[in-house]
Order: sequence, then structure tokens, then C-alpha cells
Amino acid sequence: MINIGVLALQGAVREHVRALEAPDVNVVVVKKALQLEEIDGLVFPGGESTTMRRLINLYGFYEPLKQFAREGKPVFGTCAGAILMAKEIAGQPEPHLSVMDMTVERNAFGRQRESFEAYLPMKHVGEDIEAVFIRAPIIQSVGPEVEVLAEYDGQIVAAQEGPFVACSFHPELTEDDRFHQYFVQVVRDSIKVGVTAE
Ligand code: GLN
Repeated sequence: MINIGVLALQGAVREHVRALEAPDVNVVVVKKALQLEEIDGLVFPGGESTTMRRLINLYGFYEPLKQFAREGKPVFGTCAGAILMAKEIAGQPEPHLSVMDMTVERNAFGRQRESFEAYLPMKHVGEDIEAVFIRAPIIQSVGPEVEVLAEYDGQIVAAQEGPFVACSFHPELTEDDRFHQYFVQVVRDSIKVGVTAE
């Protein structure tokens, strides 16, 4: 069994839990930093990144989350979760957890397009992936080790750097579980290569 956590400070936790389900996966709703020790991979849901950051500090998650990523354990950030992962946030002096070499811009699709859906081809994942964007960020630029997985309108909306995966949209809000199941495979592979082995 592999254990995958969903950070349950804010946002659509239940939907992520459902999308991660697989016969060899135990999904853990993570409410306490100590639970990070039991899991092999972690999802950061969407929500509001500044609020999530406040809760991360309030509940003593900041250093344990940095450590989790430092150990190379897989993290999947969706929407606000991707903002938490970025090394740089356009127009903000400081990033949050700074685990992935990318610059994000918050609310980048503008007010007229608060939310919309698109079907995108995604590298390693499949064709016609249903993507729901809600006050979504874009990934403005990525570092040399980062692979772009999907673009929309010429903007990067999904990317991966080794065990770290981020996207601008909300894959948990559709019935299409392929992106989550891709992340599950990233976690399985990380265990095989011994990243999380003692
Ligand atoms: N706009 C939000 C932020 O900046 C992200 C929106 C979302 O997660 N749906 O945190």
C-alpha cells in the first residue's frame, strides 16, 4: 500500500481524495504536521493561497512541508496549491514554500474570465483532459529542469519538476481522474527508486 495525503487546511479535500483512489492507495486527510511522516506523496488543493499560507504557519506546517519536499517526496499542487509551490510569485516579494523552479502569476486570466473550462492535451497524461479554471494562476516561466505538461492559449498551465507536479486548474472537480492517477504513478515510481526508502 502507498499512502498519499491531501492537505486539509482549506479547499476541495473530498474531491481530491476520490480522484486519488486506487487499489494500492490509502488516502490520508492531513490535518496535523505529524501525519506527513506517514505519507509517500501529498496534494495541495486549490483555495486561496494567502489564506492557506496563514493556516500553514498557524498549524505548524511550514518547516515540515519544506522538509517533505527537501526529501524529494512527491507533491501535487493544484491552483492555489501551485502558487504555494512556486519559487517566485509575480508582484510578490516572497514566495511561500518555494519547492518548484517556476514563476507564477496569480489571477492571471482576468476578471472577465473568472472561471472557464477547457479540454487540453497533456504530456504523459492523455488527450482532452478536462480542466476547470477558477481565478487561476498561470505559470509565467519555468526553470531548465522543469517539463511543461500543458498549455492553454500559449500559457503554461501544468508542469513537472521530478517529483513535483503543479497545475493552474482544478482536476479534482471533474470525473476525469487521469491527472491524479498520473500523480499516483509518480508516487509509486518515487518509492521504487527509493526516494522515500529508509
Ligand atoms: N486565486 C487564488 C489564489 O491566488 C487561487 C484560486 C484557486 O485555487 N481556485 O490563491
